[in-house]
Amino acid sequence: MSEEGRSPAEGDQREPLKESILEDHTRLGPKDTFSFGCYPGISCFNTCCSDVNIFLSPYDVLRLKKRLGISSTEFLEKYTLLPVQKDMTVPVVLLRMEENEKKSCPFVTDEGCGVYTDRPWPCRMYPVGLATSKDTEDGWRGERFYFLLKEESCLGHREAREWTVQEWMDSQEVDAFEEWGEAYKELSLHKFFEDGLVLPPEKMEMFFNSTYDLDKLRSFVFKSSLLERFEVDEDFVHRMESDDEALLRFGFLWLRFALFGEPTMKVRPEAAEAVQEKMQKKRTQETNPEPSQEEAQ
Ligand code: SF4
Ligand code: SF4
Repeated sequence: MSEEGRSPAEGDQREPLKESILEDHTRLGPKDTFSFGCYPGISCFNTCCSDVNIFLSPYDVLRLKKRLGISSTEFLEKYTLLPVQKDMTVPVVLLRMEENEKKSCPFVTDEGCGVYTDRPWPCRMYPVGLATSKDTEDGWRGERFYFLLKEESCLGHREAREWTVQEWMDSQEVDAFEEWGEAYKELSLHKFFEDGLVLPPEKMEMFFNSTYDLDKLRSFVFKSSLLERFEVDEDFVHRMESDDEALLRFGFLWLRFALFGEPTMKVRPEAAEAVQEKMQKKRTQETNPEPSQEEAQ
C-alpha cells in the first residue's frame, strides 16, 4: 500500500460536535479499530479530490503557501473561498475547487495529491473524523471523539488492512496539525463567543489577518509601532522575521490580548505612561472644557 496514494477529503471535524454526528456515528477512541486501504491502483483513486468542502486551518494555509512558495495573501486570493454565513463567529476558509466539470482540487494530479507532504489536516484524517464535546466546565477542552466517515464512492472501506485510530493518525503525521489545532481552539472556541458576543467587522478582519494572512501580520509587526508599544523577546522578534510558525504563535497571543483582554502581551512601561498621560489629559479636558470665545469675553 502506498501512503502517497491517499487523497481523500472531508469537512473539518474540528467544528463543535453536532447532535446528528453523535446519533449517526459510533464514537471511537484511539485504540478502536477499523478497516481501510487507499493506494494508486484502487479504482476510486482520486475521486475524493473533487467537489469537496475542505475547511482550512491557519496552519494548513501556512504549510500550503510555504509549499507553493507564494505569499499568504496570494494563496488566499488564488486558492480559497471565504464564505460569509449568518452565524459565523470567526473567519471560515475553504479550499477553492477548480471551475471544471469535476470541480477538482487545484492540487490533484494523475499520480495523486500534488502537495502530499503538506496536504491539509482533513485530507490526512479521512476516513477518521474528529469532534470535541463542549460539555465540560471550561468548554473547548472537552472530550475528543473520533468517528468513521464513509463516503459511498470510497472503496477503501472494503480493504482488509486493519488500523487503530491512533495508528492511522500516526501514519498520516498529524501531530503538528493537532498541536496547532488545539492552540487555534483557544481562539475560535473562546468563552467570548460562548457568551454570545460577536466581533465587529474590523476585529473580524484583525482575526483573519493575524491567523490566516501571515504576510499581512508580518507587515503589521514590523512596520507599525507595535514593537515600540509591547515588550517582545528579542530572539522571538528575529525569528518572526523569517519563521512563519513563530509569527503564527505571535498572532495567536496578540489576538488573545487584543480581542479578549488576556494578559498575553506586556505593554512597555514608557508606552503605558504615555497612554496614562493621554487619558489624564482627555479627562482634564472633559471636566474643564476650554471656554468658548463668547464666554471668555
Ligand atoms: S489537497 Fe491533496 S489530498 Fe486534499 S483534496 Fe487536494 S489533492 Fe486531494
Ligand atoms: S475514495 Fe477512498 S480509497 Fe478512493 S482514493 Fe479516495 S480515500 Fe482512497
